[in-house]
Amino acid sequence: MTFQKAVTMTEGQGQELFSRCLWRFLQWLEQKGWESRLSECGVQSSRTFIHDGVRMKGVDSVHRVDPPSLHYSRRAIDVNLQVPGRADRWVREGGTAEWAEAHAFWASLHPNCRFGNGSAGSDDNHLSLIIREGEKW
Ligand SMILES: [Zn+2]
Repeated sequence: MTFQKAVTMTEGQGQELFSRCLWRFLQWLEQKGWESRLSECGVQSSRTFIHDGVRMKGVDSVHRVDPPSLHYSRRAIDVNLQVPGRADRWVREGGTAEWAEAHAFWASLHPNCRFGNGSAGSDDNHLSLIIREGEKW
């Protein structure tokens, strides 16, 4: 998918816009009758996490700090999508019709909305919002 050209804004404006877009996205999910469990909206730079079954404290390898994930800026969230009626219910896989529809809706909310990690079909439940063109999402 080709994203729209981002509008430059401040960090605070981006956080507020991300919140508004997320609110609209959650309303859209409700209207469709889908469910979600939200995860990792704001990640602290040092935190407790589980890696390979071992509880650790520090910076996890999923949300690396170079360059920092937008989770650290409270402009990203991981949405665990559930679609009642599907055999597997949880829609984790990229390339599903449900995520394609959800991505299209998210991207329609604002030119700065992004999803995934920039590689097609990867990290599909990651929704984010950039504050300038070229920022890693
Ligand atoms: Zn994420």
